[in-house]
Amino acid sequence: MSEKLTIEQALNEARRCLHCGIPGCRKGCPIQNNIPDFIRALREGNLGAAYEIISERSNLPAICGRVCPHEKQCEAHCVLTKSKRGIKIGSLEMFIADFAHQYGLKPNPKSNGARGKVAVIGSGPAGLTVAGDLAKQNFAVTVFEGQSEPGGVLMFGIPEFRLSKEVVRSEIQQLRNIGVEFRCNVLVGPDITVDDMFANGFDAIFMGTGTALPRTLDIPGKELKNVLTADYYLRMVQLVHNGMLDDQEAILKEGDRVAVIGAGNVAMDAARTAVRRGAKEVTVFYRKTEKEVTAFPSELEAAKREGVHFRYLLEPCAFLDREEMQECTGTRVSVTESASIDLKTADLKERKPVGGILLQKITQMQDGSFLPTKENVLFSCDCVVLAIGNKPAARIVSTTTGIQVDEKGFVITRERPYGMTTRPGVFSSGDVVHGPATVVLAMKESKKVAEGIAQYVDAKRLMNECGS
Ligand SMILES: Cc1cc2nc3c(=O)[nH]c(=O)nc-3n(C[C@H](O)[C@H](O)[C@H](O)COP(=O)(O)OP(=O)(O)OC[C@H]3O[C@@H](n4cnc5c(N)ncnc54)[C@H](O)[C@@H]3O)c2cc1C
Repeated sequence: MSEKLTIEQALNEARRCLHCGIPGCRKGCPIQNNIPDFIRALREGNLGAAYEIISERSNLPAICGRVCPHEKQCEAHCVLTKSKRGIKIGSLEMFIADFAHQYGLKPNPKSNGARGKVAVIGSGPAGLTVAGDLAKQNFAVTVFEGQSEPGGVLMFGIPEFRLSKEVVRSEIQQLRNIGVEFRCNVLVGPDITVDDMFANGFDAIFMGTGTALPRTLDIPGKELKNVLTADYYLRMVQLVHNGMLDDQEAILKEGDRVAVIGAGNVAMDAARTAVRRGAKEVTVFYRKTEKEVTAFPSELEAAKREGVHFRYLLEPCAFLDREEMQECTGTRVSVTESASIDLKTADLKERKPVGGILLQKITQMQDGSFLPTKENVLFSCDCVVLAIGNKPAARIVSTTTGIQVDEKGFVITRERPYGMTTRPGVFSSGDVVHGPATVVLAMKESKKVAEGIAQYVDAKRLMNECGS
């Protein structure tokens, strides 16, 4: 986790950098940020130059500085890490980007739009990266976003206490400064189709639509009130923060006992958010052991420090209302990819609230596999948050032709031009292609796809000029 540094701390930290001949830190950064050079510029007190260097490779440094797993990437490759005092690269990146935002530094000129017109669908890290990289190369870029505000998971998933929304807005403002246009509350598919976009003169279309459908458990009691998906829960809390929703609508009440199902980063965010919203007790249930937890180690440790309980080798087999808690037996039902639970607030009011969970004990076999046993346990709670993964929605592929997806709904892309789907002129990257991963992986792939789009549009325009 990055630390907020004072200018003195940042300069001292920058002075510790050895400027290695072969900088491992740069190799460890998925988008190959020029870390040694921005640290050198910072050490020389030239923050403008430091920000310019970062901006050559990244459109989202204030965000990456906060949410990237630096301990596994750049910082893991710093030679000083071996002596236990590696350079705090994430903190330095965050310091430089925050300084640039505070003083309104604008490292890149506005796009003149002359090179071509590109539509970007979705404004998470994938869409923002494509938009920024193409605008820097003089494309006219319009971003279409289904939500009320751009940012994707950065705005409505990762909670405020880990990533301030003012920081996300500042990064997006930098993209507006270079000419990227944002159209929010437009859901491509129902509101406008890919075919409409081509008819409106876009040379290429990029889909960075993420994984909008949360997985749910198809078990008895799934319809009870307060059985929520983490996506929904975190979005509600963010809307309350943004002043767009009444606090009463944010589901969890102070003093509630909360069960979180799953042990990835999303589960940790849901659990830690519940703690901050005054839950009396928050317990994470995971069907494997602590060794298999997929959350970043720093997130797991933070959750433990904040008092979140962890129960391993347990899997829900039914959600029970308060009366049912007394008299239950259960049969095992496995995880399904059923459609998202209908969570309209009006419906919630009519349902019985959840009172507990019937869980099945799991055992680990000698070969490492996990098998359910016949033993059950009951856990009483007032709210269940499901954080067991996501998959892509089919809004775009079902409203046009030619974009193929695999059996799980992930978009199939090709190597040349990089990132083009099976439909010419439509490109894709980010979670909708490779599955739920990290901000920086979405950025890394999207940088390559932006190059693919530029090549495609240049070639298309050249062919048009040649009259073919
Ligand atoms: C709670 C949570 C915490 C996380 N924490 C971290 C972390 O600490 N560090 C890290 O590196 N990664 C983290 N991740 C993962 C990371 O945020 C994602 O991998 C990343 O956001 C994927 O980027 P994306 O652009 O592909 O998709 P998204 O960020 O999901 O953006 C997709 C966007 O497309 C829009 N959209 C979808 N369909 C349409 C449509 N038809 N029309 C218009 N718009 C549409 C959506 O509204 C959304 O804004 C976290 C994820 C979650 C859910």
